[in-house]
Amino acid sequence: MTKKEQLYEGKAKKVFATEEPGKVIVSYKDDATALDGLKKGTIAGKGVVNNRMSNFLMQILEKEGVATHFVEELNERETVVKKVEIVPLEVIIRNISAGSFAKRYGVEEGIVFDAPTIEFSYKNDDLHDPLINSYHAIALKLATPEEIETIKAMAFKVNAVLKAYFLKLGVKLVDFKLEFGRLADGTIVLADEISPDTCRFWDAETNEKLDKDRFRRDMGGVEDAYREMMRRVFGE
Ligand code: UDP
Repeated sequence: MTKKEQLYEGKAKKVFATEEPGKVIVSYKDDATALDGLKKGTIAGKGVVNNRMSNFLMQILEKEGVATHFVEELNERETVVKKVEIVPLEVIIRNISAGSFAKRYGVEEGIVFDAPTIEFSYKNDDLHDPLINSYHAIALKLATPEEIETIKAMAFKVNAVLKAYFLKLGVKLVDFKLEFGRLADGTIVLADEISPDTCRFWDAETNEKLDKDRFRRDMGGVEDAYREMMRRVFGE
């Protein structure tokens, strides 16, 4: 598979065309943004961690029956994925209170929920990704009612698989964001990435943060946290 013209450059990744119309190459950068784009920086080695971890997790999910965009890892920063039209919803699953949930409802972080929650944000930079409910998403034709049901079921399945997987590595999966895409035939697949940029990971013993919150909150030790997650997953 060869890299052709650049189609898109996002905050953390570039996307390139290939000789196959149904496939694109994603290239992961070390650039990081947070706080609605106000905070910018780089996290050395992040692109490598996110590419490798996301690919590994997507392959676990495929084995468990979750359709994903993953095709083939080319090198430590680049991966061939199926070309999709992204459903403009950020799908957030939570197992433990943290971040915007704790802030919005005035509760502390760390409350373990009896059952996972789901919420959607409308992916729209001009509007700052507002929270949206499924009725509004359908009214705005962001997704059909059937697609919303498929996405919900897939998101909870991803949570069940990954929560158990990370617990074995001594990591609590606090919350995470997923994005879904449509293939040319309309099939919904898991797209984007699953990484310390898009998940909150807490050490199971100490609750130490092992994710992008260290960057968002200027806690230091950002690169070490990403490296530690790499070590837990790949033993390196
Ligand atoms: N998240 C993300 N991208 C976003 C917003 C959130 O990947 O644009 C992830 C974030 O890493 C966390 C989860 O979604 O794992 C829930 O984030 P939250 O709504 O608490 O927002 P935050 O506090 O990160 O602004």
